Formats: sequence, C-alpha cells, structure tokens
Amino acid sequence: MIDVATRRIAVVGGGVIGLACAWRIAQRVPCEVTLIDPDPGAGASAVGAGMLAPLTEAHPTEPDLLELALDSAARFPAFAADLAAASGLDPGYETAGTLAVALTADDRAALGVLAGHLAAAGRDTELLGSRALRNLEPALAPGVRGGLRVDGDHSVDNRALLRSLRRAADRAGVRFVADQALAITDSGDRVTGVRLVGGAHQRADVVVAAAGCWSAGLHPAAAGLIRPVKGEIIRLRARAGVVRPQRTLRATVDGRSVYLVPRSSGELVVGATQYEAGFDTSVSAGAVHALLSDARAVLPGIDEYELTEARAGLRPGSRDNAPLIGPIGPAGLVAATGHHRNGILLAPVTADAITDFLIDGHLPRFAEAAAAARFQTVRR
Ligand SMILES: Cc1cc2nc3c(=O)[nH]c(=O)nc-3n(C[C@H](O)[C@H](O)[C@H](O)COP(=O)(O)OP(=O)(O)OC[C@H]3O[C@@H](n4cnc5c(N)ncnc54)[C@H](O)[C@@H]3O)c2cc1C
Repeated sequence: MIDVATRRIAVVGGGVIGLACAWRIAQRVPCEVTLIDPDPGAGASAVGAGMLAPLTEAHPTEPDLLELALDSAARFPAFAADLAAASGLDPGYETAGTLAVALTADDRAALGVLAGHLAAAGRDTELLGSRALRNLEPALAPGVRGGLRVDGDHSVDNRALLRSLRRAADRAGVRFVADQALAITDSGDRVTGVRLVGGAHQRADVVVAAAGCWSAGLHPAAAGLIRPVKGEIIRLRARAGVVRPQRTLRATVDGRSVYLVPRSSGELVVGATQYEAGFDTSVSAGAVHALLSDARAVLPGIDEYELTEARAGLRPGSRDNAPLIGPIGPAGLVAATGHHRNGILLAPVTADAITDFLIDGHLPRFAEAAAAARFQTVRR
C-alpha cells in the first residue's frame, strides 16, 4: 500500500481511534501525517467510562468481537507503557479487575451462564458468595447475593488516555489541522484528499475515516454504515473518609445494567443509558435519576459522593455492532470506525491493524472479522 506515490496520510477525527491511528502511523510509516478535527477529544471518547472489558461485555452471539476485544486487551499494557514513554504523561491504565454482582437469584443464575460461556471460551473467572464478595469490596450493598470475579477486565482513565495520545501524536510529528472535514474527495478510483469546511483542500494519498458516529457523512462509500447510539453517564467524586470500591462493579437493577468504574483519583464513573436519538446529546433528568438509583442499589455509600458531571455521548454503531476497519470504496480510503460500546478498549488493535494495512497492503488476520469491506457497496 505504501509506495513511492504515498506521501501524505490524512486522518479525519481525533477521538481515541483517530489519535491512536495517527500516532502509530507516524511512528511506523515514513509519511506526512495530518489529523483533521476542529476539537480533538470532544466526541464519545471523552464521555465513555474507560472500561477495558472484553469478558463482562461479551455476548454469546458475537464470538468474533470477543476475539478482537481480547486481542486488544492483551495489547493494552504495552500500548499504555509505550504511550507513557512517548508522551511523558500517565495514560491512566488500571488493572484492579471487575466484579459482576447479583442482586437477585435470577441475576445469580445469569452470572452462572456468563461464567459457563467464558469458561467455554477458555477464560478464567470465579463465582463468589456474598461473604467472599464483601471481603473483597466492603462497600457493597448488604443485598448483594453473589458475584463473578473477572480479574482480566481492566479500565483506563479515558481523559488521561486522550491527553497522552494527543501529546504522543504531536511528538511523533503528526500535524493537527483544527478544521472540520466537509467531504473526503476522490478522482473516481483513488482518494485525493479532504475538503475542509474552512474552504481549503487538504491533499492526501490515503485518508483514514475515524470520525466516530459522524463518519458516515464523510464519503458515499460510508453512507448509512454508522449511526449514533446515545449514552448518558454521570461522574461522582468520593468525599474524604468514604470507603471506596477498588474494582469496577457491574450489576443489573430492575432489568437495567449499571456499572461503576472507580479511578485511583477518587472519581467514580456510573453508566450508562443506551438508546437511539439521532445526534441529540442532552441529558434527561430521568437518566440521571435511574443511574443514581441503580448505582445506589450496588453501592449505598454513593450518597456521600459529590455529583460532578452528567453528560451524554454518541457511540458509533455499525449494522452488526462490530467495528469497520480497513479499505472501503476508492483506493486510499480506509475506515477506522463503528466501535460502538468498546472503542476505548479496541484502540490498540485498531491502530495496529490500520498501520499494518498501510505497510503490508492487506488487513492483518487479527482484524479480518472487522473488515470494513464486509458491507461494501459503493453508492454515488
Ligand atoms: C456513555 C458511554 C460509555 C462508554 N463506555 C465505554 C467503555 O467503558 N469502554 C469502551 O471501550 N468504550 C466505551 N464507550 C464507547 C467509546 O467511547 C467509543 O466507541 C469511542 O470513543 C469511539 O471513538 P472514536 O474516536 O471513533 O469517536 P469519537 O470519540 O466520537 O471521536 C470522533 C471525533 O471526530 C471528530 N469529528 C466529527 N466529525 C468530524 C468532521 N467532519 N471533521 C473532522 N473531525 C470530525 C469529532 O470532533 C471527534 O473528536 C462508551 C461510550 C459512551 C457514549
């Protein structure tokens, strides 16, 4: 793919995916790399919870996504270490693990099914009774009946991660253009660059479309492939003296799933709603009420926390909920989008897949299940 004619690579979108791709490309490919975004880090990546949860997010009907997610989770420690060294900033990677807890007998049965599914996939988890759980996390509610200990599901402070990525990309020579892409341009069979809202045309031999849920509007080849999936989420801060959880806690309360992700800084992230409402990012009072009430059923001590933020973000959802990675449409157009609920987790594997593709000319095996070309029909 990278031949003498390829000198300029443009990445559209500076969320976790675009920044990770731009940084890795600039590290490994001898080209000019430009990242176009009016406000890098302003999308879903700053809103999300930062769970790195291939196992507790696993769904039996999505085995390919589980493999990709496990692969990315395995890459995370080296990715975070490289990033810390390259940026001089701590990306906030935490390895304390996850507890999925049961509030009812039905929940406990459901955790048994999840444990069986994960065991069949060769993954270690441990079912725990209520006493063992409370020994691990004394702040859990007395009503918690049991749980599943999943040490392999970690977390990252996504805002710290974005700061590190931005600094590392900058230090690797990525040029930031603070403008919005109007359209990715082509000459029929080849990409020619990116038309900017400000009027300029950024010439490029390769364009990586990484604009999250806005990616579908960039080129006809991506039209209709990505949709926004709204998620409301709140952030709290522990007051001094409060017993804080060490691990991510997950539960189902009145049929709704809730997760609580603690940071070593004292922040607690509680999420999240999930529904389709176009590009609306307002936060409803009902969502905040439900998140607080569900979180309180798991961790009554949140009454002593300060509520610091309520926000909504737009997950980039594809038709089958798996990402779109690799070539799509005219030569030189490359997709890195559609990461839905797991974009922070999937950033390392996506950046490696895109960079390998640019160097080798074909998508690596580990990313084949997410090949963007699986939906390809070019509409003009
Ligand atoms: C409530 C919530 C909780 C979540 N929790 C988790 C979690 O725990 N773990 C996890 O792995 N994932 C989680 N996610 C999902 C994750 O946040 C997303 O999958 C991920 O952030 C997608 O990253 P992205 O870079 O593709 O998109 P975004 O972060 O949305 O970035 C897109 C970027 O493109 C830019 N852009 C848009 N249009 C243009 C244009 N025309 N020209 C130039 N730039 C443009 C925007 O300014 C933005 O910076 C969560 C999401 C939400 C909403």
